[in-house]
Amino acid sequence: MEKTRCLIIGSGPAGYTAAIYASRSNLSPVIYEGLQPGGQLTTTTEIDNFPGFFEGITGPELMENMRMQAIRFGADVRAGIATAADLSQRPFKITINDEKIIEAETLIIATGATAKYLGLPDEKKYAGAGVSACATCDGFFYRNKVVAVVGGGDTACEEAVYLSNLASKVHMIVRKPFLRASKIMQEEVMKNPKIEILFEHEAIGLFGEHGVEGIHLLKHRGRPDEETYDIAADGFFLAIGHAPNSEIFKPYLETDETGYILQDRPETSKTKIPGVFVAGDVADSRYRQAVSAAGSGCKAAIDAERFLSENQPGS
Ligand code: NDP
Repeated sequence: MEKTRCLIIGSGPAGYTAAIYASRSNLSPVIYEGLQPGGQLTTTTEIDNFPGFFEGITGPELMENMRMQAIRFGADVRAGIATAADLSQRPFKITINDEKIIEAETLIIATGATAKYLGLPDEKKYAGAGVSACATCDGFFYRNKVVAVVGGGDTACEEAVYLSNLASKVHMIVRKPFLRASKIMQEEVMKNPKIEILFEHEAIGLFGEHGVEGIHLLKHRGRPDEETYDIAADGFFLAIGHAPNSEIFKPYLETDETGYILQDRPETSKTKIPGVFVAGDVADSRYRQAVSAAGSGCKAAIDAERFLSENQPGS
């Protein structure tokens, strides 16, 4: 069975930063990249708020830079998904791709979060045929077409603005009478002539013969003037937030009601299991920024290094 001193799961800014720090501390970390190598940032376009890139940098480029930086210092970056975990004793046993088990003296969980869906049966029915949770991945297919974005946060605004550069029209479907996004993003969507915001609307279904052709909407739910009507749209984009990828660790670690892993002491990356550390969005329901994820990856690697220098290997 393969053994490692430091196993990192996940390859967003948290995972790669942990790998950079852990390899520079001679921990010879092994990092598994997970379902989406590079993480959520690979599905964004320009990143203008990561310090050090004053002219902006694309998400995929930033992640490739981090990956190469980790490799430069000796991190063993591998393709693969952690499918099971046994954290009952050290060394921890992590199963990769349902077949291989790795024993780890320390574990850094940086598995991030995944886009949420509304839970409509039609989202499954039209998966890959008009339904998407990533405008920058799939927007290209909607050149000069009509699309809708669900959500009123920063992600929804960003996706709506991105899609407005391709599509002929963008409907934003927002369940509240206001946007939750930052002021600067709100202003950007408000002044965009191609974006129409449908406040107090919910998508309740989709229709179309071979792919999405339109959306069933519910307006003013629960009010006397509640009504349903349909709009035509070729694309339906979800931007309603993310759920943490913590499932396989839940039997061992404490999480909040949404599944975000709780640190033992919030100012550190330590969990209640000595030797298991968390970094990035899987433990952060509040900030969820690339730079804060990178910072927490740094903390996790430092905590792992200190733990290893203070503790004998597990049996
Ligand atoms: P948010 O949680 O901020 O917003 C989610 C949006 O989706 C809200 O408008 C919410 O409505 C709506 N929503 C949630 N569930 C449903 C549902 N079942 N049906 C209909 N609507 C729903 O998520 P984001 O992904 O937008 O942002 C996450 C974090 O990342 C935030 O902190 C944000 O600031 C940050 N971010 C920063 C960016 C940047 O700085 N460049 C870019 C993107 C994100 P309601 O308001 O009613 O709850």
